[in-house]
Amino acid sequence: MSKLLIIGCGGVASVAIQKCCQNSDVFSELCIASRTKSKCDAMKAKLEGKTRTKITTAQVDANDEQALKSLMNRYGPKTVLNVALPYQDLTIMDACLACGVNYVDTANYEPENTDDPAWRAIYEKRCKELGFTAYFDYSWQWAYRKKYEEAGLTALLGSGFDPGVTSVFSAYAQKHYFDQIDTIDILDCNGGDNGCAFATNFNPEINLREVSANGSYWENGRWIETKPMEIKREYDFPQVGQKDMYLLHHEEIESLAKNIPGIKRIRFFMTFGQSYLTHMKCLEDVGMLSTSPVEFEGREIVPIQFLKTLLPDPASLGPRTKGKTNIGCLFSGTKDGKKRTIYLYNVCDHQACYRELGSQAVSYTTGVPAMIGTALVTSGVWNKKGVHNLEEFDPDPFMEMLNRYGLPWTVEESPETVG
Ligand code: NDP
Repeated sequence: MSKLLIIGCGGVASVAIQKCCQNSDVFSELCIASRTKSKCDAMKAKLEGKTRTKITTAQVDANDEQALKSLMNRYGPKTVLNVALPYQDLTIMDACLACGVNYVDTANYEPENTDDPAWRAIYEKRCKELGFTAYFDYSWQWAYRKKYEEAGLTALLGSGFDPGVTSVFSAYAQKHYFDQIDTIDILDCNGGDNGCAFATNFNPEINLREVSANGSYWENGRWIETKPMEIKREYDFPQVGQKDMYLLHHEEIESLAKNIPGIKRIRFFMTFGQSYLTHMKCLEDVGMLSTSPVEFEGREIVPIQFLKTLLPDPASLGPRTKGKTNIGCLFSGTKDGKKRTIYLYNVCDHQACYRELGSQAVSYTTGVPAMIGTALVTSGVWNKKGVHNLEEFDPDPFMEMLNRYGLPWTVEESPETVG
């Protein structure tokens, strides 16, 4: 019986909150706190009378560490689930540390202002030393490991689907299917159609920053960087069909490279339709994806933030999105001296998610694992102190909860592989 503080009340939060309310034995009390309190109040009203979890709401600016600390001290949560934006990861981690609260998130830290000279100096050093240029990486949050250990707290990083479930799938494959995993290809396929000319399935700013950046993959102990969308493959996804997919940099590659012993190669592919790519390229070419402020009619605006205000809110896409997602990991390696390949995946239906919770499948596939990771930390089933990624824990209880809370998984032996 524990109090949980959820920060953020967007698309992913809406699923995580409703799933926590289906798990009242662990989450007896829940405070939803975000920048716009009216969204928290609307979510509370939607759930009233349908759950045993006692819900309260609060307004908070998660960039303001003092405000976070005073909310945590007032409310007294055991755990904070951060489903705001990656920009706020460090302030929330600092506040949790100061208040003796466990921390869970779904995306690793990246700065809002990538022109900040102090951040840029560290970033450029990292690009040179590690060999990938993505704005996000785990070094900022892994730096808290000792402090969390000493405080007897757990910070669980990246408890969404990818990263998150893909990390747990890797630990599960390692535990039950392989003596040695040689390669992992993480495949993220959204076979859904929302009928919009152009829309992103999660926060547009974070999404577009990620997919317009250089790609990279891990091979033989080092990063290999590619131009955006340079590597394209086709794959026939179970229950979805044939799709084009492109190699991207993705955050779980960084942690899996450290945590899966002897791994030789890890790649991440995401499916995109040609129309999406053409729109994105055009927006990029005219400067609309820029994160640097420009002057417009006497005030500064950030182009990508302005673009966000024009694009559909991902949380509103539920009713109009049809089709399925298929996200999973293709593992190859050896077991008992024999070569083995498996595809471990989940298929999620957009309309089924909408009928259950009013959300599309991308929010659903992120919000369910956010709840599961938070439940395992809060109930002490996962009780390693310090700052950890999901593949560092026993995968079995998480895998069991995926089946129970709406994301059942399948193991296919000898699947199609990716060239
Ligand atoms: P949304 O934009 O829909 O929601 C973000 C929420 O955070 C909004 O409620 C927003 O408030 C709130 N917020 C933003 N800034 C602040 C602030 N300074 N203080 C308090 N609240 C704030 O995003 P999503 O729900 O689509 O994504 C949430 C997170 O999930 C992101 O970090 C994203 O990267 C991650 N994600 C992870 C995935 C995974 O598989 N691991 C997949 C998809 C997403 P307001 O309503 O006022 O705008």
